[in-house]
Amino acid sequence: MGIVYLTGAGPGDMELLTLKALRVVKEANVIIYDRLANPEILKEAKNDCKFVYVGKEDGRHILPQDEINRTIYQYALKYKIVVRLKGGDPFVFGRGGEEGIYLKQRGISFEIIPGVTSAISVPAYAGIPVTSRGVAASFRVVTGHEAASKESSQINWKSFKHDETIIFLMGLHNIQIICKKLIDIGKSKNCPIAVISKGTTKEQKTIVSTLQDITGKTKNLPTPALIVVGEVVKLRDELNWFEVFKSSV
Ligand code: SAH
Repeated sequence: MGIVYLTGAGPGDMELLTLKALRVVKEANVIIYDRLANPEILKEAKNDCKFVYVGKEDGRHILPQDEINRTIYQYALKYKIVVRLKGGDPFVFGRGGEEGIYLKQRGISFEIIPGVTSAISVPAYAGIPVTSRGVAASFRVVTGHEAASKESSQINWKSFKHDETIIFLMGLHNIQIICKKLIDIGKSKNCPIAVISKGTTKEQKTIVSTLQDITGKTKNLPTPALIVVGEVVKLRDELNWFEVFKSSV
């Protein structure tokens, strides 16, 4: 029986992969990966490493989660080192917890290798710090996937603090409803908002606007994309660095 490494691949930029993740990728007999994991990482694997794609896009699974769990388990029965490679961090909307529990219940050893989550690193590459003294004392990472559903929404909209940065993952297709709900709970229509597409990659694109005006500007923006809401977005005027650097090379 093998060991499974539930591994974060980082947000896109290959150099944001951790040394530990790189080590297990190099040792792996099998790599089971998602769409969000940079395919360049796979080039680091051994020649005879087996690659298994279980794609997952914007929270929508190509394979249902229980089939992914079963796939990981079955490879772990046959191979020594199995790497389950996921975009960002495996425990930030990555369902790494569910996969770990499934393996534990079947007696398979696993380790978690945290990754650089897109929630913080993508805003950073857009020149937006998620906290800043005197501007935002906290930040919150929220799923935007279910924002539109009345019954199943677990988001406690009223609990958002005034000076808090809110980061929505999987929210692009619900951006209109997200902005409306934020205005309904008392956020200013002019509150700054940024949408960052394909963050930390060469195709990174950022759109900055206000809660009332952003929706029309994000049509046709490629995914993955995340949303940052709060006064910290204004700091981009001074701190935007990656997109400037990228356009100069
Ligand atoms: N575990 C991942 C998040 C998985 S949920 C992590 O820690 O980063 C998938 C969502 O993450 C996407 O819908 C998008 O909102 C966000 N995301 C992931 N990579 C991104 C990137 N390079 N640029 C912008 N958003 C990204």
